[in-house]
Amino acid sequence: MRLVLLGPPGAGKGTQADQLVARYGIPRLSTGDMLRAAMAAGTALGERVKDNMVRGELVPDELVVAIVADRIREPDAAKGFILDGFPRNVPQAEALERLLQERGLKLDAVVELKVDETILLNRIQRRILQMTARGEALRPDDNAEVLKQRLAAYRAQTAPLSAHYRRKGLLKIVDGMQPIAAVAAAIVRALAAEPAEGLARKARKSKGKSAVTPRRAKAKRRPAGRSKAKKTKARQGAARTRRRG
Ligand code: AMP
Repeated sequence: MRLVLLGPPGAGKGTQADQLVARYGIPRLSTGDMLRAAMAAGTALGERVKDNMVRGELVPDELVVAIVADRIREPDAAKGFILDGFPRNVPQAEALERLLQERGLKLDAVVELKVDETILLNRIQRRILQMTARGEALRPDDNAEVLKQRLAAYRAQTAPLSAHYRRKGLLKIVDGMQPIAAVAAAIVRALAAEPAEGLARKARKSKGKSAVTPRRAKAKRRPAGRSKAKKTKARQGAARTRRRG
């Protein structure tokens, strides 16, 4: 199964992705994690993306597309994967489609976690304060100002992916404001359900069938006048009458 998880920062994509990893035995590919690892290791890629990341802006498409292209070729991704944080805009979604197409593959579904941004922002700000009070390490982009920037980037660049994937019949929307286990269960149900597009196609087909049922279709093909069976019966009846007379 090849999945994309969509949703603003703090919507719980990481938590839900981990549940899906355990359930389906496929890896979670988080571009944010990969970029943070590159930054921590001080690689050339890490150096290039550092400024964008600490400001909460998207890093250039060609860089993330290249790391995803490499990552999905790894053996553990052969059975499928869960993309978390990628694609983040329509050009990245198109690049992903091309990458998969080249290998004769496609996405199975895109799950969007719908959340209330104001509640989300309050929740994250509270968590940041609590972590700071406990002296825990924060991500460099974990502060209220950067978070607002990340939300703005999401709204402007990532949110249009909803319509993009809806048009492709891949989008499944799940209420991300429920407790973690309820969100996880809703995702599993959504993935088990038939794609909206498939259902619509089936509905159109059966509607077409009820207009001209096989029996009616056969009747339509028969030439006007009496059927063969009726004619035979009529002939037999006439013969009987002749014999009696
Ligand atoms: P995340 O952990 O997914 O919230 O990502 C953290 C940061 O990494 C983002 O704010 C971006 O700066 C960068 N990033 C992660 N994934 C992408 C992506 N697909 N495209 C551009 N930038 C990304």
